[in-house]
Amino acid sequence: MKSWISRPVPQLPGSMPALRLFDTVKGGIVTLEASGEQSMYVCGITPYDATHMGHAASYVAFDLLNRSWRDGGQQVSYVQNVTDVDDPLLERATATGVDWRDLAAGQIELFQTDMSALNVLAPDHYVGAVEAVPIIVPAIERLLHTGLAYRVPGTGAEPDGDVYYDVEAAGKRSINTAADDAWTLGSVSGLSDAEMLELFAERGGDPGRAGKRQALDPLLWRVARDGEPSWPGGELGEGRPGWHIECTVIAQEYLPKPFTVQGGGSDLIFPHHEMGAGHAYSLAGVPLARHFAHAGMVGLDGEKMSKSKGNLVLVSRLRADGEEPAAIRLAILAHHYRTDWSWTAAGFAQAKDRLRTWRDALAVAPQGSAGTLLGRLRTELANDLNAPGALAAIDAWARTALAKTVKDTPAAGSATDAALVSDAVDALLGVEL
Ligand code: ZN
Repeated sequence: MKSWISRPVPQLPGSMPALRLFDTVKGGIVTLEASGEQSMYVCGITPYDATHMGHAASYVAFDLLNRSWRDGGQQVSYVQNVTDVDDPLLERATATGVDWRDLAAGQIELFQTDMSALNVLAPDHYVGAVEAVPIIVPAIERLLHTGLAYRVPGTGAEPDGDVYYDVEAAGKRSINTAADDAWTLGSVSGLSDAEMLELFAERGGDPGRAGKRQALDPLLWRVARDGEPSWPGGELGEGRPGWHIECTVIAQEYLPKPFTVQGGGSDLIFPHHEMGAGHAYSLAGVPLARHFAHAGMVGLDGEKMSKSKGNLVLVSRLRADGEEPAAIRLAILAHHYRTDWSWTAAGFAQAKDRLRTWRDALAVAPQGSAGTLLGRLRTELANDLNAPGALAAIDAWARTALAKTVKDTPAAGSATDAALVSDAVDALLGVEL
């Protein structure tokens, strides 16, 4: 599928030191080995609704990682999927009387326009679930052949043949390999069985499905139902893939095994990234990714943002209201990517003020000030993508620049410094001044 077009990233003198990033699995900060080549998979949207601030914050967070790596001279391979067929999409299409394909196409276009407006660098491969079905089917067939997946018999309303992943068998098999990084259920999320069961039910799992070996076994292949789209599934029969196997297969197709960082919102830790890691280990005998990183959740005025509450803050709505995308991005960057935070009118007003101040300061950039600021920005970002720290450094620089103006009117700004500050803020933070 076509991705959006990245805006050019200015080249900066010097480079970012080795990056340190919080790894969810290890529960602490790790140093990412600067091997020259990095690879990242960030889970994409299910295109049934417009991009809300939570999505935007998550993609902006991993965009910081992408930009930091590039600044450090690393080649980055970046893959993102789009779950362009899944239950929520089909349910919304039915509820609104829109063809599911039209709904998906419209929302994908809106998402890409939002990402482009927010200056999020595009993935190298943007892959839809539908177009990936031909590579997903053989992977599920292999799991069946190796005894790590099984067919569930039909019961009442459900037809025969849905395929599930056997989490217990997969965990035992990987323990037998005696590798340090073998996968067993819980090794990514670190959750207890009770916690996993609760989240599984909340986040699209079907713990009560009759005929499953274990309540937490996730769906790999849903055989065709009347009124639902389906695709040829080889031995599996006509149907469509489950969500976790979709991401795993796409990641393994386009990225190294393992790749460097699996990213997404913290609501994807379980079951999505847990199960994806299991599938990957079962298919390739190595972990899905070396590191797992997660962005916090965004609420509105202290409440959880959700469609059902009708309180979604949409990037496209803000843009339609004439708000500048750079200010939206700056409002996001004011919060550390791992924290849960709330979008507020006051926070957004502050971001707009900040953008204005920085622009005013550029006109009076003190001679020789840019190099020091660039060093500060790199230090902050190398420290677990500390964007708020980077913003504070630019604020301090801007205060100094503007204070000098008042004192030594008329102050002549240094064009060289202004250009470097502007390039640094663009290249590292994705904010165009
Ligand atoms: Zn995913």
